[in-house]
Amino acid sequence: MTTLNSKVPKGPLKDKWTTYKDKIDLVNPANKRNIDIIVVGTGLAGGSAAATLAELGYNVKAYCYQDSPRRAHSIAAQGGINASKNYMGDGDSDYRLFYDTVKGGDYRSREANVYRLAEVSGNIIDQCVAQGVPFARDYGGLLDNRSFGGVLVSRTFYAKGQTGQQLLLGAYSAMNRQIARGKIDMYNRHEMLDVVIVEGKARGIIVRNLITGEIERHSAHAVVIATGGYGNVYFLSTNAMGSNATAAWKIHKKGAYFANPCFTQIHPTCIPRSGDYQSKLTLMSESLRNDGRIWVPKNKDDVMAIRERKIKPVDIAEENRDYFLERRYPAFGNLVPRDVASRAAKERCDAGYGVNKTGEAVYLDFAAAFQRYGKEQAKIHGISNATNEKVIELGVAIIKEKYGNLFQMYEKIIDENPYKTPMMIYPATHYTMGGVWVDYNLMTTVDGLYCLGEANFSDHGANRLGASALMQGLADGYFVLPYTIGDYLSDDIRTGKIPTDTPEFDEAEKEVKDRIDFFMNNKGTRSVDYFHKKLGKVMWDKVGMGRNEKGLKEAMAEIRAIREEFWKEVKVPGDKNEMNLELEKAGRVADFLELGELFAKDALDRNESCGGHFREESVELEGEQKGEAKRNDKDYAYVSAWEYKGEPSDAVLHKEQLEFKDIELKQRSYK
Ligand SMILES: Cc1cc2nc3c(=O)[nH]c(=O)nc-3n(C[C@H](O)[C@H](O)[C@H](O)COP(=O)(O)OP(=O)(O)OC[C@H]3O[C@@H](n4cnc5c(N)ncnc54)[C@H](O)[C@@H]3O)c2cc1C
Repeated sequence: MTTLNSKVPKGPLKDKWTTYKDKIDLVNPANKRNIDIIVVGTGLAGGSAAATLAELGYNVKAYCYQDSPRRAHSIAAQGGINASKNYMGDGDSDYRLFYDTVKGGDYRSREANVYRLAEVSGNIIDQCVAQGVPFARDYGGLLDNRSFGGVLVSRTFYAKGQTGQQLLLGAYSAMNRQIARGKIDMYNRHEMLDVVIVEGKARGIIVRNLITGEIERHSAHAVVIATGGYGNVYFLSTNAMGSNATAAWKIHKKGAYFANPCFTQIHPTCIPRSGDYQSKLTLMSESLRNDGRIWVPKNKDDVMAIRERKIKPVDIAEENRDYFLERRYPAFGNLVPRDVASRAAKERCDAGYGVNKTGEAVYLDFAAAFQRYGKEQAKIHGISNATNEKVIELGVAIIKEKYGNLFQMYEKIIDENPYKTPMMIYPATHYTMGGVWVDYNLMTTVDGLYCLGEANFSDHGANRLGASALMQGLADGYFVLPYTIGDYLSDDIRTGKIPTDTPEFDEAEKEVKDRIDFFMNNKGTRSVDYFHKKLGKVMWDKVGMGRNEKGLKEAMAEIRAIREEFWKEVKVPGDKNEMNLELEKAGRVADFLELGELFAKDALDRNESCGGHFREESVELEGEQKGEAKRNDKDYAYVSAWEYKGEPSDAVLHKEQLEFKDIELKQRSYK
């Protein structure tokens, strides 16, 4: 059995990464030309890795299921990317970014990895600026920063509300240079359906050409998985519709442990669900909480009048509004971390104060920001005695400049003008902190099999701070993996090409083909989405924002039953030798149906509340923190790493005990 060794280098925290880099084995340039690396996924994590590895001289084969790397889900990232540059001079440092990230993650991440992340964060900004990423700049031309939740400094670099898109264009340009040089073979519209292990090492993958349906074998000396998160296990999420867990789940079944599957982020500021026929939720970036204030009416009469459309939110007087985040968390106010903000909104809605028809919405209001910015602008432009209309006009212009595209998106979806009436928001599934377990080298429990970006269990513990996912994905791809993989590959310089006509490839290919044939031949009556929606409902109701023992046990049984029904009743139309979106979805939902059960099992094991995982049995009963989530460091300061043993309910738990030498474990208070 594999032993769980995090391989964190010895020595003081601040020196670990530098000393590690000084001591690792290197591969000389001539030998790199003889080594092949497969990178599955070309979002920010995979794209940055593929470009850098090719630049270093390795032969890279890269895969994505979209028609271009430019369409990876990373493109959706709106708000920004963190780095401890301290351009604002507000006291930031590598240590503070490290500290905020570990604290924000509710002390469930590995110190050494998080410190390294903070350490390389500044390099990411330099790299992206060099690529031409158009980060926002201040009046003097320097890069501008804004604040995200859970921190007391401004360290978020941004490109309006399109940061992910601009960063992805940077990584894609870097990849394209290598594609043109012949150092990256790019396989668009190819889906990895299995990994091939030869003598304990990852040596290849089986992919389906999504246009022709052809099943192909590809080999390499190492395999890198950067396939994103599994938030779509909930059916409705802010993730791209295609985001899925298949690659991560397949490698789990071949020996890679899956860590902390229950750590999911429910983001507080999403456009509320409108009905049963919706297939996607939309995020309103956290950056909006810099200027927007979150509230519900204080009086239930006002709530009812609003729901019945007898009054408008702007009719409610200031003293009759409950700015519940500012009330409960005066130190951080509207900028508390996501888990805290989401639970507070749910608490108000559960208590009957939700402001839309379903009772699941709170307001995000910019009126105060229009006034604040408007008055400032009036002064700057020397307009004395500006009327209220003029002040608002000037304030709106500033907000438009900062978040215009987000406001436009809101109006298109909801058909209300958010400059005139507050936005309505509600929490939704957004990000998964859990994922494939990796050691300090980003290697999984299978030799030569690496995992990056949102697909790994990452550096975010039980809760990710805003703007830290892009930082982690790009740190992994540009600055960490290129070192660590070299150390591993230095043993492979004499191996030669990995053949694909071997029993291991035969077997993996057969498994993939058998499963496709099953789907095509099954005489079921239900669509794939029917099962996905059913799974999503169980996940949201019983493994969502609040979890308890009874609900989790029920969820495990219900997911198992949905899975059994799926294999009997699923119907996949069309042909396997053509583009067949239903066939693609069927495979992905089959994997979600297993992952969902492990997710609930993990949540059941963790009988503490931490970060995005709120166990209703584990709540502070007294003192200033009364009603808040109660963490249990004595029994649960570990990473749960699950080993596949057949049925998800049989998975075996391995614990990576977390050690905190440079940060004192404290109760997380944002009051
Ligand atoms: C709406 C939204 C806004 C966000 N805003 C921010 C933000 O402002 N700041 C921030 O830090 N984070 C943000 N995040 C989170 C962040 O965008 C993601 O965590 C991050 O982009 C994930 O990058 P990735 O490279 O790991 O995966 P992805 O970008 O999801 O890329 C996955 C890649 O894997 C490929 N792939 C998947 N499966 C297979 C397979 N089986 N075979 C072949 N290829 C496969 C895909 O084609 C794709 O290329 C946001 C998330 C959402 C949903």
